[in-house]
Amino acid sequence: MDSLWPHLEKLLPRVQKPARYIGCEDGAVHPVPEPGQVSWLLVYPDTYEIGLPNQGLQILYEILNENPQAVAERSYAPWTDLDALMRSEGIPLFSVDTHRSAGSFDVVAFNLSAELTYTNLLNCIDLAGIPVRTEHRDGSHPLVLAGGHCTYNPEPLADFLDAVVLGDGEEVVTEITAVIADWRQSDPTGGSRHEVLRALAKVPGVYVPSMYHVAYDGPHLRSVTPRFADIPERVEKRTIADLADWPYPRRQLVPVTEVVHDRLNVEVFRGCTRGCRFCQAGMITRPVRERPADQVRQMIADGLRRTGYDEVALTSLSSADYSGIGEVVSDTVRSSSAGRPVSVALPSLRVDAFTVGVAAEIGRARRTGLTFAPEAGTWRMRQVINKLISDDDLYGAVESAYSQGWRRMKLYFLTGLPTETDEDTLGIAELARQCVALGRKHTKSASVTVSVGGFVPKPFTPFQWFGQNTVAELSRKIGLLKDDLRRSSGVQLKWHDPKATLVEGIVSRGDRRLGVVIEDVWRHGGLFQEWSEHFELGRWMDAMERHGLSPDWYVHRHRTEDEVLPWDHLSAGLHKDFLWQDWRDSLESVGLEDCRWTPCYDCGACTGYGIEHIVASAVPPAGGSQGTGQGIVTAPSPVAVPAAVPVVLGGSGR
Ligand code: SF4
Repeated sequence: MDSLWPHLEKLLPRVQKPARYIGCEDGAVHPVPEPGQVSWLLVYPDTYEIGLPNQGLQILYEILNENPQAVAERSYAPWTDLDALMRSEGIPLFSVDTHRSAGSFDVVAFNLSAELTYTNLLNCIDLAGIPVRTEHRDGSHPLVLAGGHCTYNPEPLADFLDAVVLGDGEEVVTEITAVIADWRQSDPTGGSRHEVLRALAKVPGVYVPSMYHVAYDGPHLRSVTPRFADIPERVEKRTIADLADWPYPRRQLVPVTEVVHDRLNVEVFRGCTRGCRFCQAGMITRPVRERPADQVRQMIADGLRRTGYDEVALTSLSSADYSGIGEVVSDTVRSSSAGRPVSVALPSLRVDAFTVGVAAEIGRARRTGLTFAPEAGTWRMRQVINKLISDDDLYGAVESAYSQGWRRMKLYFLTGLPTETDEDTLGIAELARQCVALGRKHTKSASVTVSVGGFVPKPFTPFQWFGQNTVAELSRKIGLLKDDLRRSSGVQLKWHDPKATLVEGIVSRGDRRLGVVIEDVWRHGGLFQEWSEHFELGRWMDAMERHGLSPDWYVHRHRTEDEVLPWDHLSAGLHKDFLWQDWRDSLESVGLEDCRWTPCYDCGACTGYGIEHIVASAVPPAGGSQGTGQGIVTAPSPVAVPAAVPVVLGGSGR
């Protein structure tokens, strides 16, 4: 296979960050595909710095390269400077491992973690020399696949993706590889693309959009139905039963340039049952599957030894819920890497677990950035979103941190939540001021950064029926906070651009008709829409108007119970009537406790698949929910409420 390196190397002195494109990381492989092997190019459609640490991509990279039927390489979206040079010099998208052209692979598979990367996905397909629309591809082109959390509503990308994977990828990539290998063997010219797509559509967890017919009633979706009798009516997500069987990545990549989350990452569990109603990740990854503590320790020891990192992130959606968290943190901070103490980052930690003792333990090595995510400014609002923590829980955690030497921390909030009033919004400012006041008991320089994001309702959450706040309303709420915090010393306010929140809202719950809009924005130069310097709302609004689509209809309208949703033919395991009831409960401020420790609510995630939560210990972690026996917390009963809030240490985001 020809390497494009000699051509590419000449361009690199002319771009901002050449190290993004050279590969050569510790942990990388440089496979040469044998006849009969299926070659995968795994693409993260954003920059190397954002994409390299992605654990999902790294896990599949290793699993595929261990499969004798497959080889896998990686690629990241070239920044606009290299993109322009590649186009002018006729150089296609390439892998960073062997610098082969993307078009020479059998599969080009994207990891989709954010809706605003969709135009980059189209750009990568085009740069690879592959027709952007599935209908224009033939057997000579690679199959274009996608996985990741965004694919739970893949409809806006249905015109561009040959197949989509729902849920955990560890097992299904092997099954997909076998189908493609059979296809290549039976038809080396690749003429029967339809046949391989039809075969892929029968693999559990794989959705092939072109195998489904979409019907509308005016602006409303009427149905999405299979075109053939042997294609499933509903595609269920894949779930690996036990994380212990998948100790990956075994050889985490060590980047050659600065990246986000540049540290050893060890996943301690997958899934979350806290039931935060705004959180799509928590809903779609159920049930909880913990990694055995011994395996976590082994992965940490092996990873530190191999990489030379002196920081470990114990990753999950709520790391303090991990049964063995105390021991693992303690063992880790007492270890060393190349003679240096090891620091621990807990990307999600409940405030009740962040005691003086834990703060002291973590602070033994190095005080990394500290982030708490109370999400809402008042207890009432936190009941609506089922983030059942009291103000005192937060203050306790904050004071523990300041007392152990931290001087500043971040607080994450959402605005635009269902039923939100100005009192709730201003509660954010009040919480921040109180945190600073607590800190100043310990240090004069105590400060807090408040980061506020606009709420985007996501598919497969109880809020999927909610009409998102308008740009004007989100801007007004941010203005309220700005005014209120103007004279508050020690509080810095940051916010997410409400215009970008609007576009995220359009795409998150969009249907197939949005494909032309995404393509239009891309064709008009809309790349790297996650990056504020490249985002332009006007491009999106113009494209919506050109294609006769209304942002109001897609974003700001409340949905009714009987409305057919664009993702109803897909399944994250959750019963729709459970989600609807939870939505109604939220409006009554009725909370649900963590079902790990209470009777099951039959949301469907375990019962539907015959799998169960796996916890390393039968005893809830200290401070965790003990359960009421009924599993219901009704308002107002703050005394009975479990104290929980995620904390991010080490500056990682949600
Ligand atoms: S099926 Fe029951 S135990 Fe499993 S996640 Fe849903 S509510 Fe919890």
